Amino acid sequence: MDFGELPWHQQTEDNLDVEHAAKVLDHYHFGLKDAKDRILEYIAVRSLQPKRLRQPILCFSGPPGTGKTSLGRSIAEALGRNFVRVSLGGVRDEAEIRGHRRTYIGALPGRILQTMRRAGTINPLFMLDEIDKLGADFRGDPAAALLEVLDPEQNHAFSDHYLEIPYDLSKVMFITTANSLASIPPALLDRMEVIEFPGYIEEEKVEIAKRFLIPRQIEESGLQDKEVVFRDAAIRRIIREYTYEAGVRNLEREIGRMCRKVARLKSQKKRYPSQLTPHLVEKFLGPPQFFVSEAERQDEVGVATAMAWTETGGEIMPVEVLIMEGKGNLQITGQVGDIMQESAQAALSYLKAHCSDFDLDPSVFEGLDIHIHVPEGAVPKDGPSAGITIATALASAFTERKVYREVGMTGEITLRGRVLPIGGVREKILAAHRAGLKTVILPEKNKKDLVDVPKKVLSDLKIVFVTHIDEVFRVALHPSSDNPVQPRWKAKKEEKNEEEEE
Ligand code: ADP
Repeated sequence: MDFGELPWHQQTEDNLDVEHAAKVLDHYHFGLKDAKDRILEYIAVRSLQPKRLRQPILCFSGPPGTGKTSLGRSIAEALGRNFVRVSLGGVRDEAEIRGHRRTYIGALPGRILQTMRRAGTINPLFMLDEIDKLGADFRGDPAAALLEVLDPEQNHAFSDHYLEIPYDLSKVMFITTANSLASIPPALLDRMEVIEFPGYIEEEKVEIAKRFLIPRQIEESGLQDKEVVFRDAAIRRIIREYTYEAGVRNLEREIGRMCRKVARLKSQKKRYPSQLTPHLVEKFLGPPQFFVSEAERQDEVGVATAMAWTETGGEIMPVEVLIMEGKGNLQITGQVGDIMQESAQAALSYLKAHCSDFDLDPSVFEGLDIHIHVPEGAVPKDGPSAGITIATALASAFTERKVYREVGMTGEITLRGRVLPIGGVREKILAAHRAGLKTVILPEKNKKDLVDVPKKVLSDLKIVFVTHIDEVFRVALHPSSDNPVQPRWKAKKEEKNEEEEE
C-alpha cells in the first residue's frame, strides 16, 4: 500500500438534518428506539455545534442478528458518510492493528489503515465488530493499540508501523459491536458509550419479518412483490419451530429458503403456492427443529429450569441432580467454574441445615454421592445466578418432590438461604417467554429491572419475586402430598438398617 492510496483530504459533507436521519433509520429498522434516539441526539448536537470535533464512541452490545451492523450502515446512510467495517474477532497480535515495520518480510499496514484505504474518505463511519473477541498474547496487546485508535486525544496522530508517519483518524466516527460486555478490556469499555440491543420478542420478529425480511427475500429470490404472501401463522411457525434465537438472522435465512423453493417451482413452470401456510412451512423446510419447547417436557424429580445469560442472549437450561449411594461426595459436571461449585455448596449446606423442614433425616446426606450437572454455555461471569436452581434441583432430588418444568428461575443463594439479585434480567425473561415458560422466579431486588421488559411479555408471564429460598421451593416444587410413596433412597436406607439390626 502506498501513501497515495490512503485518503488524506477527501471527505464527505455530513447531512445533519435530524428529520431526514429519523426517516432513514425508520425506513430500514423496526423498533430499536433507544439506539435510534441516541443517534438522533448525536446528530442534533452536531448540527448545533458543527465545529465540535470530539466524536462519541458508541458500542452496540447484544446477541447476533439484533440489527447492530445494519443499524450502523443506516446511520452512515443518514449522515451521508461512507461505511466500512472490520472484524476484530480473533485478533491477538498488535501488528494486526498497527502494522508491521517495513524491515519485516511481508510487512503490511494494520487493519485500521487498510480499512481506511477502502473507505476512501477521512471521515467514514467505521464499525469495529466483535471488540469483545480481541485476544492478547506474547505478540503484544491489540487492545492497547485500539485504545489509541479510539482516544480522541491521540487519534489525530495514529501511528502505524508500516506507514511510519502519523495518520489522522479524528474525523472518523467509530462504532464498535460486541455480544458481551464482560470480555471487553475495562480501559476500552471506559471510552465507549454502550447501547444495548437486547433481542426481540415474537411479536417484534413477526413485524420485522413482514416489513423487512420477507420483502427482501422475495426480491432476492427473483419473485415479484405480492406474488407470494406469508400467512402470519406461517411466520410464527418458522419463529417457534425452526429458529431459536434472540435476533432474526436464522429467521431471515429460513424465509429465504422458503422463497427459493417457490422460485424454483415457478422457474420450472410448475404450480406454485401464492399463500405460504404453516403446512407449507413443514413441506418446504422439513421437520421442525425445535418442536418440543423446554416447558412442555414432563415435570421430573431432580431437574429444575435455570434462566441463564449467554452471549447469544438469554437461555433456559435444565439443571440436573442425581443422588446415589456413596460417600457423601459432591460432583459437578458440565459448566465448570469455582462459582458454580460455591453455589452448589451453599445450596447443599442450606438443605442440610434445614432438613427437618423437608422431613429429611440428617444422616441421609452421609451415605450418598451427589452429582450435579449444569449444561455448558452460560457465561461464567453470570456465575452464581444458578444458585437457587441448583438448590431447587437438590431439594427435589432428596425429597423426591417433582419440580414444575414451566417455572424458570434465577438468583444467587447465600448459606442462610437468602436470595440475592443477579444480572441480565431482561434477556433471561425474554428467553423464558420464548421457551413458553409460565412462571418466572426472580430475586426481589431485581424488581427494578422489569422496566426494560416489553409489556406483552410481562402480561404473558407470572413473575414471582422472592427474598428467601423457601419461597422458591413453595412455587417450584410439587407439594409433598403429590408423592405418597416414600423416596427410594429412604426405603433403601431403612432396609439396610433393618438388615444391620438383624
Ligand atoms: P447483528 O449485527 O446484530 O448481528 P445484523 O445487523 O446483521 O445483526 O442483522 C441481521 C439481519 O436482521 C439483517 O438483515 C437486518 O437487516 C435484520 N434486522 C435486525 N433487526 C432489525 C430491525 N429492527 N428491523 C429490520 N431488520 C432488522
